[in-house]
Amino acid sequence: MSSPEVKISPLQSPVSSVWGVGDERAKLLARLEIFTVEDLLLHKPRRYEDRRKFLPIRDLKLKEAATVRGIIIASGVKHFKRGTRAMFECVFDDGTARLHCRWWQAQPWMEDWYAVGREFLIFGKLDDDKKPRTFTHPETEFVEPGDDEFIHVNRIVPVHPLTDGLTARVMRSLIWHALEKFETQIEEPPIKLDLKIFPPRANAVRMIHFPQELTDVEIARQRLAMDEFVALQFQIQSRRKKFEAISKALPCGGDNRLMKPFLAELGFKLTEAQTKVLREIRADMGGAHPMRRLLQGDVGSGKTAVAACSALMALESGFNVALMAPTEILAEQHFRNFSKWFEPLGVKVELQTGSKKADGRWQMADGKHAPTSNSQLPSAIFIGTHALFAAGFDLPKLGLVIIDEQHKFGVTQREALVRKGNYPHLLVMTATPIPRTLGLTLYGDLDVSVIDELPGGRGAIKTFVRTTEKLPKVFDFIREKISGGRQAYIVYPRVEVADTDKDIKAVTKEFENVQRALTPFKIGLLHGRIKPTEKENVMAGFRANKIQVLVATSLIEVGVDVPNATVMLIENAEHFGLAQLHQLRGRIGRGAHESFCILISDAKNPEAQARLKILEETNDGFKIAEADLKLRGPGELLGQQQSGAMQLRFGNLVEDLNLIRQARELVAKSF
Ligand code: ADP
Ligand code: MG
Repeated sequence: MSSPEVKISPLQSPVSSVWGVGDERAKLLARLEIFTVEDLLLHKPRRYEDRRKFLPIRDLKLKEAATVRGIIIASGVKHFKRGTRAMFECVFDDGTARLHCRWWQAQPWMEDWYAVGREFLIFGKLDDDKKPRTFTHPETEFVEPGDDEFIHVNRIVPVHPLTDGLTARVMRSLIWHALEKFETQIEEPPIKLDLKIFPPRANAVRMIHFPQELTDVEIARQRLAMDEFVALQFQIQSRRKKFEAISKALPCGGDNRLMKPFLAELGFKLTEAQTKVLREIRADMGGAHPMRRLLQGDVGSGKTAVAACSALMALESGFNVALMAPTEILAEQHFRNFSKWFEPLGVKVELQTGSKKADGRWQMADGKHAPTSNSQLPSAIFIGTHALFAAGFDLPKLGLVIIDEQHKFGVTQREALVRKGNYPHLLVMTATPIPRTLGLTLYGDLDVSVIDELPGGRGAIKTFVRTTEKLPKVFDFIREKISGGRQAYIVYPRVEVADTDKDIKAVTKEFENVQRALTPFKIGLLHGRIKPTEKENVMAGFRANKIQVLVATSLIEVGVDVPNATVMLIENAEHFGLAQLHQLRGRIGRGAHESFCILISDAKNPEAQARLKILEETNDGFKIAEADLKLRGPGELLGQQQSGAMQLRFGNLVEDLNLIRQARELVAKSF
């Protein structure tokens, strides 16, 4: 497909070309990020009012928002006895009953504006059933006699997001006039939608502001959302095509020479899901284009073994591998695992983390630097933290880069890292299940593999939400479990107690309480401000069960694997995100014993309680991610992905999976 023609559409002209927009209003509109005619036409209403019929004031129902129409029969400022507070009140009459409206802060302009005899539309609701009927702080609209009255009454009207100095009525008029002048200039985008399914774009733009029926609004929104998703998919897919055109894959399919003995010694059989994913990875690594693959698997699904097998494919093919972990603890854990697995196979395993910094090049076990040119040395796997990779490390014959648990890299960041090795294959692994809508947009540059099955032989995890009142019992329970030979994590949100928020517990303070509560057991402390060598000691002690309980911040959230730990206690649980709690919980349930996750929270607000309840109900990371997305919106998940492409006006990343899929297919067919 040829790229969309570059021509300046009249819709790109400044918003001042719309009737009624002068310098003053252009400035106000700029505050709403409206600069062009198109911006104005796509200014999405925040709600609608059906003004074909007004509700008689007499029929207003308690707490049900409605629009009524009335004439002012009295108005004025009311002062309260003591103090300076002044309230403005006016009384409307529509022939059926009277309605009092009040504003707690009387403004100087109100007396003139709400003058007796003027007619207004009033949108609000009754907060109680006392008489007189009263609206507090309603939205009102002056019924101005004039020839554009038909825009504002006897139809369903939009109420748009506004700014001080710009009323709903003015905004509505401006958009009406913009439509009158520019509607015919609204063209179908280059990739054509099926107009049997979607209304033409121009109609959709009119419908989103002035629907005939309220059901039209969603039809119009879907059409406009579809245009956004198509544009986004075009961007994603063109980038991918371009990438494939300029990059040539290194042949890393492998020959099983190392894989066979590795699998024989592993101690378990790969699950079907792991095997399926490995087939996809092998096809990529032996294919024509460099692999760009996202591996999703819930906590504990066994991504590390998949990473190891992928690494072996590259190593068998004579290439080096780099594995990047987000924390030193994880890098060290991988280093231990890979050393154990790979050294018997004659593969070198090297570790470099921030606290073990050499001169920017890799330190080999024998004290020499890593080879800087193609050499006869056996291939190696290099394990480190991402800070190090970003610092400009440069590895020869790099065939595969694996990024573990990094769900927050943007596309450009990711490519910048990988480019250093001249288009090696890339495998990104994440344990935060990504809702499918985001997988197809945010991660649209990557192919996705999912490990949708956990290895068998694991004890179940039971999750309970409890209040602080129950803590003594919870500690008795922990004592019982560690007496039985198990281990526990106890997690707090803070490192130190903050003056501003004394209710949020901190590890440094609670550490002593936990020690006291659980004597004579040995307790370890882990948080971001502890020295790396000390951290390592604590982790080693915990792994060896010399330390029975680890008191920690969410630092231990990702990847840590100690199968004997079966209790996870999280205090102030409402201070963590759902996905984060699920990650934390993923630290237990890794061995054969039954595991217990106890979330302590005194949160009263229903939303916080609903979130914690989800964890009690399910262990399925996908369900949790989708629920999190619904509760919190995509902002949080988008994180560092400040890709401008994600500014959607009409598209909804929580609900539009279907549209996103259609857009993706449509664009794929257009190439
Ligand atoms: P994650 O996907 O969270 O990174 P890990 O790779 O850390 O999970 O695996 C969790 C645990 O499961 C590890 O102890 C690992 O050795 C074990 N494991 C992985 N695959 C299997 C399997 N197929 N059968 C049994 N245990 C497995
Ligand atoms: Mg892992």
